[in-house]
Amino acid sequence: MLEDLFKVVKSRLDYDSRTASGEEGSDSRPRIPKNLLFKCPRCQNVMFMDDFNANLKVCSACSYHSRISCQERLELTVDKDSFVEYDKGLTTLNPLDFEGYEEKVAEAQEKTGLTEAVITGECTIRTRKCVIVIMDSRFMMASMGSVVGEKITRAFERATEKRLPVVLFAASGGARMQEGIISLMQMAKTSAAVARHSDAGLLYITVLTDPTTGGVTASFASLGDIIIAEPKVLIGFAGRRVIEGTIRQRLPDDFQSAEFLLEHGFVDMIVQRVNLRKTISKLLKAHLPDQKLEA
Ligand SMILES: [Zn+2]
Repeated sequence: MLEDLFKVVKSRLDYDSRTASGEEGSDSRPRIPKNLLFKCPRCQNVMFMDDFNANLKVCSACSYHSRISCQERLELTVDKDSFVEYDKGLTTLNPLDFEGYEEKVAEAQEKTGLTEAVITGECTIRTRKCVIVIMDSRFMMASMGSVVGEKITRAFERATEKRLPVVLFAASGGARMQEGIISLMQMAKTSAAVARHSDAGLLYITVLTDPTTGGVTASFASLGDIIIAEPKVLIGFAGRRVIEGTIRQRLPDDFQSAEFLLEHGFVDMIVQRVNLRKTISKLLKAHLPDQKLEA
């Protein structure tokens, strides 16, 4: 079995190196193309990158739902050309004069093409109108600084004003340490905006993706009326080692997985990526069956 896989990999490598060099068999050392394979961090299964991408970046062996960019998420979720972005130009300052922070932000902006770790806006999902918030783990591990908090708060305030539901895709490594206490304050600010949206009787759906941790789990990500998670993703507050060191006990192996949290009532349902759009649109429809659609 392993031998067969190795043969397939080898033949693919030979083929790619020939096509890359433009001639056949002239080079005895094949050039290995970058990103040819995906190795699943959960089960160590190896897949060809093409197959992995065609499978919506989901591991075919264990169903681990890998991280995707917010642009990819948008494409998978919303109706074509329906997204209108809010607050695109908001960028962070360096309130604590933290050394190297500006450079780090500039690097992340360059790498992702985003101004911050979250995009917010209005869209329709299978013709149902809503406000959508998508966090992108490629941008400083989607840590929550003042701009992330502000954009999310404004998105909820607009949704409350326009009486729209909110669909939020959470992913984060937690608070952004370069902004210290200002970053921690975003937990209270976003939670207050979510509470006002809820008091107005409006629906809030969160989708927890890999990884959702720290101050984001401890604030708006856990406040959804309906909490969905993608399979096998990591959801938690503090890291495993920190907790084990504090309580001096070994934690279960599946601790902080979506499946563990579903079993313990923290997550309402686990939905495969391929079915998310359909599931969210059904929930929106159930909440607002007679929503009038704008032209
Ligand atoms: Zn896997």
